[in-house]
Amino acid sequence: MSGITLWKPEPDVLIHQALGKACEEATELAGILARCLIQGLDQSEPVTGKPNRQALFEEIADLDAAVQWLRELVNDEYDGDRADRKLNGFRRWQRMLEEDMQEAAE
Ligand SMILES: [Mg+2]
Repeated sequence: MSGITLWKPEPDVLIHQALGKACEEATELAGILARCLIQGLDQSEPVTGKPNRQALFEEIADLDAAVQWLRELVNDEYDGDRADRKLNGFRRWQRMLEEDMQEAAE
């Protein structure tokens, strides 16, 4: 038996489009995140002169809106406890990095 099965597009047009928009906006956010990494958060796009920081927060807002729309359409199952655990983990990691940098400077 092969692992190939019949996949078909999401049949609900609204959910289909909201999934697509969330994917598109997530990709746009990934693009500006990469630019900030390789060029610097406080630098600007060379041709347009648009600040990277401004572009980053525009794409964060776009993705936030797209995710909110998707959540409304699919009957929100947002896991706030999971998000809190994730954020706490990031903050623990931040403290570890700060301690490591402090030790390296000594
Ligand atoms: Mg966008």
